[in-house]
Amino acid sequence: MPKGSGRIPPEIKGLTESEDVRPDRFMRLLRAGRIVIPANPRHKSLRPCAIGEGTRVKINANIGTSRDYIDVKEELQKVKVAVQYGADAVMDLSTGGNVRDIRKKVVRASTVPVGTVPIYEAACSAATQGPMRMDSDDLFRTIEAHAKDGVDFMTVHCGVNRQTVASLKKHKRVTGVVSRGGALLIAWMHETGLENPLYEDYDHLLDLAKDYGFALSLGDGLRPGSIADATDVPQLQELVVLGRLVERARKARVGVIVEGPGHVPLNQIEANVRIEKAVCRGAPFYVLGPLVSDIGAGYDHITGAIGGALAAYFGADFLCYVTPSEHLSLPTVEDVRQGVVASRIAAHAADIARGRGLAWDLEMSTARKRLDWDRMYALCVDPQRAEEVRRKRGSRSPDVCSMCGDLCAMKMVDKILRDSQSR
Ligand code: SF4
Repeated sequence: MPKGSGRIPPEIKGLTESEDVRPDRFMRLLRAGRIVIPANPRHKSLRPCAIGEGTRVKINANIGTSRDYIDVKEELQKVKVAVQYGADAVMDLSTGGNVRDIRKKVVRASTVPVGTVPIYEAACSAATQGPMRMDSDDLFRTIEAHAKDGVDFMTVHCGVNRQTVASLKKHKRVTGVVSRGGALLIAWMHETGLENPLYEDYDHLLDLAKDYGFALSLGDGLRPGSIADATDVPQLQELVVLGRLVERARKARVGVIVEGPGHVPLNQIEANVRIEKAVCRGAPFYVLGPLVSDIGAGYDHITGAIGGALAAYFGADFLCYVTPSEHLSLPTVEDVRQGVVASRIAAHAADIARGRGLAWDLEMSTARKRLDWDRMYALCVDPQRAEEVRRKRGSRSPDVCSMCGDLCAMKMVDKILRDSQSR
């Protein structure tokens, strides 16, 4: 079993039950690397979750400070809200303040798996005084520190190498590179003339993952940042490199997830998922959105949820949420809530289409038919919001809502249907 899949039994039984997957099938997929359980033994408050084939679609919420906004309490509140509204994982992307201290607090506060992107810290810490002063040892020391702090999965942009960067230079793009980790590595490689240490010393990375029990999330440093760049040559060449690295991770018995785009038009989403699943031999696919248009700023939680629902329907396993502040600012707590809810709905919509989770919807419809408002609120993905909206414009007929008032369709026809059915 991949070591990066973390400590498995005794939680395994609970996971197979909650995922409604037969234990033998679950174990087969886990051993094949098609399911990954990011679970660092040092993350004591963790309730492990399974990501991959045959399981419920999972969602991740990114939180973390920037250099402009450093408010640790707010970031911890974001973790709380993200988990409350259904995030299955959180990623701490902090780059401002004492990032190690923030990370430790996030791990302690989180009951769901925590992910990080160590290159941010390695390239920007006081020790390296900027990306160009970093050396390979700094990077691996940082990865080890994240592992010691209990991080369950780490994004590592191993596919950004000389070959893929050469491809990037050859193929014209509208938005170049939009991955922060990818950009840092490209700048470092350009300045030093050296190969990406995450690619060159991949075996060392695998050793660390195995020793500490964290999973790798192979980042897509060359993901498209605009619809015009979607599914271009550099993106696909990087994916081919990631596919080879997946094989090596599996041989080393390290759990590995593959990250995907980015900005993808609706008509290319199916191809993106199928190519990843083929090239990476069924490795769990973690898509960032994807955003199906470039013009949704302010509403990109919706743009991302549309893409996420379709990607998950076609087989993506893990959706990274997008908040309304995407492309505009660091998200607030409210943005996090809206992002998680949008992504949660997208994941659930895909689950329904994949034949799971129908009971929840049936229960909601039954409560709706009974005009049982308390039950409806309880079943909503965001009960508080549902209650607030109904209260904002109440009806003179208290058992219905003000959309139709006393012309409530369900109420009118319910009696007729009941009478005809009892005859
Ligand atoms: S009033 Fe209209 S919208 Fe409201 S519950 Fe009845 S049928 Fe539905």
